[in-house]
Amino acid sequence: MAQETGHSLAELRFMELALEQARLALEKLEVPVGCVVVKDGEVISSGSNHTSATRNATRHAEMEAIDTLLEEWQKIGFNQLEVADRLSECDLYVTCEPCIMCATALSILGIRKVFYGCANDKFGGCGSILSLHEIAKKLPRGALPGKGFECKGGVMADEAVALFRCFYEQGNPNGNKLSSLLPFVLQNLIDQFASVNPLDKFLFHLIKITSTPSIRLVAV
Ligand SMILES: [Zn+2]
Repeated sequence: MAQETGHSLAELRFMELALEQARLALEKLEVPVGCVVVKDGEVISSGSNHTSATRNATRHAEMEAIDTLLEEWQKIGFNQLEVADRLSECDLYVTCEPCIMCATALSILGIRKVFYGCANDKFGGCGSILSLHEIAKKLPRGALPGKGFECKGGVMADEAVALFRCFYEQGNPNGNKLSSLLPFVLQNLIDQFASVNPLDKFLFHLIKITSTPSIRLVAV
């Protein structure tokens, strides 16, 4: 354990690799968020935010890394159960708290644990706006798809924030408002349902994301 930070050396090492992915995104003028997926102490997939190049507001770092992994496992020929088993042994390191969409997806996919850097005050799904990693555990079994997952934030948060600062100081090629960089669907939903209770908001988001390829592959 690295006493000075409260994080283990492994956590710092893997978050540094996620930060490398975020730096790659920054070089491509994408919002600098990166992540890695770790199984048995090894990085088995990585991804960075790819929303600008794809003009697809859902191509967050987590989705990129998970889709890469699922494609690889499909090629190998793993069946649905084998995929689910492997995901339950995977941890994900991401430089910024997963948004509501990604947190829901990770819960449905059954990832074991998520480590994140800085909080996502506007769209965070792991404590900042909703606590989707916990909600499935608290509800009666089968009430909602998703198993929830363990979560730890604040791992190298300053480094993650510094990258965001770099991005906004160099000028956002897609507009000056933060909102324009985030999934417009989620933005609208949050605004629209701001006065509704968190569970209703969660269900509404769930309807939107269950049509994505990653979810379809493993959700029963
Ligand atoms: Zn996301």
